[in-house]
Amino acid sequence: MVSVSDDEVTLTVLGCVTPYPRPDEPCSGFLIRTPQHVVWVDAGSGTLAELQRHAKLGEIDAIWISHLHPDHSSDLLAAWNAYVNTPSLDKPIVFGPPGWTQRLDAIIGRPQASEETFTVVELHDGYVTGVGDLRLHAVAVRHSVPTFGLRAGSGGRIVAYSADTGPGKQVAAVADSADLLVIECGADEPQSYHCTPEEAGAIATAAGVRSVVHPPCTRPRCTVCGRPRTCPLLSGGPDSRTRNDCHCLANAAGPRPRRPFIV
Ligand SMILES: [Zn+2]
Repeated sequence: MVSVSDDEVTLTVLGCVTPYPRPDEPCSGFLIRTPQHVVWVDAGSGTLAELQRHAKLGEIDAIWISHLHPDHSSDLLAAWNAYVNTPSLDKPIVFGPPGWTQRLDAIIGRPQASEETFTVVELHDGYVTGVGDLRLHAVAVRHSVPTFGLRAGSGGRIVAYSADTGPGKQVAAVADSADLLVIECGADEPQSYHCTPEEAGAIATAAGVRSVVHPPCTRPRCTVCGRPRTCPLLSGGPDSRTRNDCHCLANAAGPRPRRPFIV
């Protein structure tokens, strides 16, 4: 079993519910941390509050927004308000899909609002950059709006995040040989823009990933968490890690964890 909670890369799940946050359960958001740097990956509704249990705002070097659906991006507005009202904080870099600055500026109602507060970068397929010792690689995936999966590497370890995506060669490229894959799989039945748990399991296995975190299968059922659908990530697939010893992050069988799972 590969641990990524060593000195090289740590992943913290801030939240993973959809399409709106519940008490103590934010929408999608993660922290990827190396000893020197912290990247906040997806700012779903409710994640900024949860983030502050694990990091100070001043520690955040960069924010990665995979796409502009609210359950993955709406707390970027909250982050803007936090940074603009705390001038002592350094501007984080914000990586986002084309048009993210115009969207945020429009909501705030002030041209250039994004650039005043953040160092802005628009993602494109194949974009590669470094945040200190962390290498970030964007891969365009299949979703209903422009969406970028992430491969984050440091010290020879790769943490991959699918973002919302349907199955295909794009998410396979995101997952390829990753040490840890976070794969969204909330679809009930096969569709173009989201994966089912079965598809997520097949993707993880084919890609040869070492460990998997899969956010909640909200409608499909999992035998481990008490839902009546066999989770393919448990049967012969890669190690699957979630919180409270349940292999779904939404633990329907037990008490709802108040703390996010840290891999
Ligand atoms: Zn989406």
